[in-house]
Amino acid sequence: MRSFEYNTPTHVVFGKDSVEKVGALVAEQGCKKVLIHYGGGSAKRSGLLDRVSQSLDASGVAYVMLGGVVPNPRLSLVREGIDLCRKEGVDFILAVGGGSVIDSSKAIGYGLANPGDVWDYYLKKKIPTSCTPVGTVLTIAAAGSEMSNSSVITNEAGWLKRGLNNECCRCRFAVMDPTITYTLPDYQTASGASDVMMHTMERYFTAESDPMGLTDELAEGLLRSVMRDVQAALKNPQDYDARAGLMWASSLSHNGLTGCGTDGGDWSCHQLEHELGGKYDIAHGAGLCAVWSSWARTVMPANPARFAKFATRVLGVEAGANDVETANRGIDAMENFFHSIGMPTRISEMGITPSDEDLHELAYKCTFMDTRTIGQFVVLDKEAIYEIYKKAVK
Ligand code: NAP
Ligand code: FE
Repeated sequence: MRSFEYNTPTHVVFGKDSVEKVGALVAEQGCKKVLIHYGGGSAKRSGLLDRVSQSLDASGVAYVMLGGVVPNPRLSLVREGIDLCRKEGVDFILAVGGGSVIDSSKAIGYGLANPGDVWDYYLKKKIPTSCTPVGTVLTIAAAGSEMSNSSVITNEAGWLKRGLNNECCRCRFAVMDPTITYTLPDYQTASGASDVMMHTMERYFTAESDPMGLTDELAEGLLRSVMRDVQAALKNPQDYDARAGLMWASSLSHNGLTGCGTDGGDWSCHQLEHELGGKYDIAHGAGLCAVWSSWARTVMPANPARFAKFATRVLGVEAGANDVETANRGIDAMENFFHSIGMPTRISEMGITPSDEDLHELAYKCTFMDTRTIGQFVVLDKEAIYEIYKKAVK
């Protein structure tokens, strides 16, 4: 097993009615004024925002509000948030929402705590040294941003979607009440669960895994439970235990646990999706499903035994005559699973028909204008990325 550091500083408050504790949790932070940041309206409609603001009022915490975060959160709103927070003297950000709201909050936190243009940090021109603290009331099991060190923002100028990973942005606390996710549309439940799975799959398909298998077994168990729970939640959206399983898996899948002792993961599918999300504004989890099998069929020959292990242990397929046959059965089974929960397995299934020129542009952007490769399981250059996109539109 490789040496590693595992840092999960987020205080998790999990369960029914945990929302009522948010005022006390914010007050404990000793801040002067809070920004309550939220999305396009679901938190308002469900009454969650009222519950949050009442809890802050009861704890005597002052706050201002900024809504309007959209999926694939935009840089323009981040800039607006930074200006508002400066004007109001905000020193704590409370994200009431999913990955998009949390990531927008982290970006505002970076902008407040570091000099210059916040986008430069996402372009890796500069490294942030701190982040104004963020806490969250989570509303969807998906991105895992509630416990991750990551934030992903889309710049409308050029429609570039870029991620920034840094320990300083990890949430101080995460309030997770599974009942809040009862109102999710099926598509968001399925897309979110797929993202949860993909955060562990990106770590599983890597060049150097944990030789004894503890990390593998954690990953395999997590994946099997998410596959079971998402089916149960789609059947009965108010199945508390299924919603709870998905919510906790969302956090465990992206807080580093399923990557301990390995080389950190492949992450190609996330890079491939970021370009699609930036250009076509699709749901992140669905975009991952749309490229996964094209990526998997391309890279599987580099290590069929790994894919065969995944096929038998996660998807329960019967072993074939050799690893390649078992691996292919596993990829087919994964596609069938994605279809069974309403997810696409091709870009074209999302109603997008990119031209050949578009695919070249996506591959160019994915390599940061031909200055980097992606992936570890197999290293992919611009041409290899283009070929995967091409496979994924057929
Ligand atoms: P999201 O974009 O935050 O939300 C998706 C949709 O679900 C929104 O339309 C939202 O509507 C709705 N929604 C959320 N909670 C709801 C609820 N309880 N009831 C009804 N509707 C609800 O979803 P996400 O998948 O968590 O975040 C996606 C973003 O995270 C992408 O930009 C992706 O690239 C990024 N990401 C980040 C990380 C990370 O570690 N930072 C990892 C993976 C992905 P409203 O706006 O109306 O609330
Ligand atoms: Fe993701």
